[in-house]
Amino acid sequence: MNRYRILNNGQPLGSLFVIAAPSGAGKTTLVKALVKARPDIRFSISHTTRLPRTSERKGIDYFFIKKQEFEEMVEAGAFLEHALVFGNYYGTSRAAAESQLNQGHDVLLEIDWQGAQQVKQAMPECRTVFILPPSQAELERRLRGRKTDDDAEIARRLKQSVADMARWDEFDYVVVNDDFDQALEDLMAIVMGQGELFRSTEQNLQGLLQDLLA
Ligand code: ADP
Ligand code: 5GP
Repeated sequence: MNRYRILNNGQPLGSLFVIAAPSGAGKTTLVKALVKARPDIRFSISHTTRLPRTSERKGIDYFFIKKQEFEEMVEAGAFLEHALVFGNYYGTSRAAAESQLNQGHDVLLEIDWQGAQQVKQAMPECRTVFILPPSQAELERRLRGRKTDDDAEIARRLKQSVADMARWDEFDYVVVNDDFDQALEDLMAIVMGQGELFRSTEQNLQGLLQDLLA
């Protein structure tokens, strides 16, 4: 199998996958399904200064910490990447990600585009995937259907999403999350090292970008 691997002194290490998406595209749902289907992949639990949503569990969905603690971690170089997203800080623990990779596990980061840029710079061998919704209208439907944000927050996320989607070509692969099962299959192919069909080229995305970036 043509599987991408980092090599360190001849030792095979795990592969690092970074998944980003505009808010509401379905990234969290897809990543949860992927981790269920591939329990050998280690999902990196981020730190955030955001308050937990009612459905979220501490230490499972996120490590919820205070801003001061976050700043101390930044100062100590504890984050592989970190960013301010929608007014809250988010970061990936360097030690946790590196330890899993060194043990030979594939690791999945579910982060925003700013974090993806930082990780690509620090570890160019990582593989980055951008999830896109099938249309702006569907993106709005999903944000509303999730029932986690009020109207003002949804409007803010939608506006930001259009700006974020313009960054599609900074990623190695793009998966369009229209039919969920198909998108999951596409994502699985990428983490199996069989993602050539999903390279982020204009040709692969055809008319979709016109709708999404309008
Ligand atoms: P993100 O993590 O990208 O912000 P979520 O995973 O929270 O997005 O998904 C947003 C909403 O869209 C959720 O209610 C989810 O169940 C729904 N959703 C995800 N994928 C699809 C899909 N392919 N078709 C329809 N609804 C979807
Ligand atoms: P939410 O608050 O909806 O869970 O996440 C908001 C955004 O922050 C999403 O785009 C999510 O991917 C991103 N995010 C979550 N964890 C991290 C992280 O560790 N680093 C960065 N840069 N972004 C993150």
